[in-house]
Amino acid sequence: MSVFRGVPAVHTLLEHPSVAPYESLVGRDALRRAIADELDRVRLHRVDEPLELIAQRVVERLDALATRALVRVINATGTLLHTNLGRSPLASAALAAASELGEGYTNLEYDLLAGERGSRYERASVALAELTGAQDAVVVNNCAAAVLLIVDTFARDAEVIVSRNQLVEIGGGFRLPDVLARSGATLVEVGSTNKVYLRDVETALSPRTALLMRSHRSNFSIEGFVHDVEGAELVALGKRAGVIVVEDLGSGALVDLREYGLPYERTVRDAVSDGIGLVAFSGDKLLGGPQAGIIVGARSLVARLRSNPLIRALRVDKVTLALLARTLHLHRARETRAEIPFYRMLGTSCEELRARGDAYAAAIPGARIVDTESFVGGGTLPHARIPSVGIAFSTPYPDALAEALRRARTPIVARVGDGAVLLDLRTVAPSEDRAVIAALERLEA
Ligand SMILES: *Cc1c(COP(=O)(O)O)cnc(C)c1O
Repeated sequence: MSVFRGVPAVHTLLEHPSVAPYESLVGRDALRRAIADELDRVRLHRVDEPLELIAQRVVERLDALATRALVRVINATGTLLHTNLGRSPLASAALAAASELGEGYTNLEYDLLAGERGSRYERASVALAELTGAQDAVVVNNCAAAVLLIVDTFARDAEVIVSRNQLVEIGGGFRLPDVLARSGATLVEVGSTNKVYLRDVETALSPRTALLMRSHRSNFSIEGFVHDVEGAELVALGKRAGVIVVEDLGSGALVDLREYGLPYERTVRDAVSDGIGLVAFSGDKLLGGPQAGIIVGARSLVARLRSNPLIRALRVDKVTLALLARTLHLHRARETRAEIPFYRMLGTSCEELRARGDAYAAAIPGARIVDTESFVGGGTLPHARIPSVGIAFSTPYPDALAEALRRARTPIVARVGDGAVLLDLRTVAPSEDRAVIAALERLEA
């Protein structure tokens, strides 16, 4: 048994060639803390270890620290709107607009003609009205906040009727029943799990009914012996009963996705033209923009949302508004919509993907080009499959390879299954191919 001789000096490790480069990544303080923690461990165990091994352990600590920071990652999962990877990537034009606005002052709440205070909420309304047919709009932090604002404005201490087959939970703990409870509204569930009829809603009406609410199922479907209440039917009932009809549309398509080979998805315009009073949807799902919750609808109802004091806590900043405005602008024509990463990925042909795959196969001996399927994700279109092309690696240790890819300089998140690691090229931007190929070459070496 060796006699414990002590630990290396802090400055020796600070200057060690494999540790020193981390200073620019994590900062001097974090570097010192990682070294101190590692030296504490060495003292505690009282075993002599070579400097190289200790330096290696410090590097492992620093790697873990560096990957906990918010970093750019490459999404090779094939899920286009990956909630854990930040949902929709943003269009370059939108980012340029945000950069231009963010660097200086803006007329966010200033009326330039009158020279006095203006409203931050009115600007996005014009573009949204044009794209959806709605009279007015308001933008808040996310769709969950949008639903909260609607319920708080119209249904506190009152009843909200929702079909039992639409009581959805979205990933990350958004449950419609919980949001209603939080707002002091009473949820009145009607119908059965598979069948809901208009007469179920009609029977549940009471003098305390404040809202008839529809909700998009988003991430599940009910098949078989089913019946639903259509939007227009609910609107007609609401008119007769004098009750406001609202819809939590969630994914919020502005365009008919059949144009992109996907199944039919109810658009915001569909909901508006059914006569729904207020329609809520996300900015970073099928819209392809920043995280935001958008509510469009009748002018008088939107005005009431704007005068709820809660809006002050749910509002969005100038950068979000700039990103959203520019993304909406791109939605006006199919050609410009292709600049939105979500629609560019959706519109890429398998031939284009295969041509990119050839470059991978040429550079990396173990790579196979395979047919695969991409998914929309983000709690939208759970059954839609998009034909795609991927690069597969068969290995006895797929989890280890996937982990090694996540540790690449720009972390790469891949799919694992059937004894292989698969990189779906649809969600990898062409500009990222070089980084992915380089990482794979390093791993093969
Ligand atoms: C996604 C979704 C939400 C939550 O949207 P966020 O923008 O993530 O808050 C709410 N309702 C429905 C129906 C959804 O699909």
